[in-house]
Amino acid sequence: MKGEIISVGSELLLGQIVNTNARFLSEQLAELGISVFFHTVVGDNPERLLQAIGIAEKRSDLIVFTGGLGPTKDDVTKEVLSSHLGVPLVIDEASLKAIEDYFRRSGRPFAENNRKQALVLRGAEILPNDAGMAPGMFLSASGKSYLLLPGPPAEMETMFLRYGKPLLAGRSGRIESRVLRFFGIGEAELEKKLEDLIEKQSNPTIAPLADEGEVSIRLTASHAVKAEREKMLDSAEKKILERVGPFFYGYGGTTIFREMGERLRKKGWTLAAAESLTGGMFQSHVSAVPGASAWFKGGVVTYQTETKTEVLNVKRETVSTFGVVSGPCAKEMAENVRRLFRTDVGISFTGVAGPDPLEGKDPGLAYIGLSVKGRETEVFAVHLIGNRDTVRLRSAKHGAWAVFR
Ligand code: ATP
Ligand code: MG
Repeated sequence: MKGEIISVGSELLLGQIVNTNARFLSEQLAELGISVFFHTVVGDNPERLLQAIGIAEKRSDLIVFTGGLGPTKDDVTKEVLSSHLGVPLVIDEASLKAIEDYFRRSGRPFAENNRKQALVLRGAEILPNDAGMAPGMFLSASGKSYLLLPGPPAEMETMFLRYGKPLLAGRSGRIESRVLRFFGIGEAELEKKLEDLIEKQSNPTIAPLADEGEVSIRLTASHAVKAEREKMLDSAEKKILERVGPFFYGYGGTTIFREMGERLRKKGWTLAAAESLTGGMFQSHVSAVPGASAWFKGGVVTYQTETKTEVLNVKRETVSTFGVVSGPCAKEMAENVRRLFRTDVGISFTGVAGPDPLEGKDPGLAYIGLSVKGRETEVFAVHLIGNRDTVRLRSAKHGAWAVFR
């Protein structure tokens, strides 16, 4: 496959910036086995951009554009391509919502011309912009493929690595990814432990990503032979797990709840839960796992203090001495729910979801009790950062992690 890069931007022609996008993309396309024979730079000018497209179509199969996807008048890339190909621009609702969310998060008012950024070529595959606003696009028409990426290098690179590369690879069949999932270690700490590997290793590439209190690593190997790709992924995985293996819980799109269930199933153990701060969130995630009824017996939500003492038989003395947000309360909740449901494992959650403190304890403090038959009950105190929902979700995940281990 022959590829060509068209970098759009008058700043490039005026020598105000260096065309680092073309350098990055050339390297990446080479890894995919796509030969890049031409780089074109053209200003923000519709007629000249059209000329450049016409020439590129005569000599290349894939044309990659960077720049000119933004909201301003001089951003013309998709407009020019739209009229050239006769493919109309339509609003992409998911992108529009992402753009509105972006404004909401940054606290800035939404300017109408930003709607323009959510306009996409009809029928194109959309590449989300996780680092900015304008989405990317991939479109095939009359035997040619067009990939449109934003100009800012950070946005372009993130989008290409996360979405563009796998998409092109799927078509050329030369690269393969594997995702390793971790819990109980922060992104920064994980990166520090793997720093030298991440830096030196370019094939497979090692890309960490943080999401909702967890970290995952995407390994991407490129080689023409499938068995070789597998071998490269295996060896990178081995090196990574030698360092951070204790935090590893699964591959790909799995969840900590699913892997916890898998462990319980293998041991033939059953589980019950007593939830205060998570209000049933843990059980909701657990019951979302297919086949959970094999190992999940049920549980209770004991939100008010009286419910803890009346339904779960937590001692009044425990509550008055230590409070409900305490290790001793979590311990009794876990032990009592295990007895009540006659299971092998009992797990409990009590803490402060926020935004206000409770019993003089700060939001984000949670106690998780773990009672396993024939073992001393354990209590984990965790300090979580985030809003109410985040604190509750992360507590639930910590509970699953405690059982998993
Ligand atoms: P925006 O939404 O930020 O306007 P855009 O997709 O419209 O994004 P441009 O307006 O063309 O992109 O470029 C935005 C900025 O990105 C430029 O000012 C420049 O700093 C950087 N940039 C654009 N093209 C390149 C390139 N080829 N190499 C390096 N940097 C670039
Ligand atoms: Mg722009």
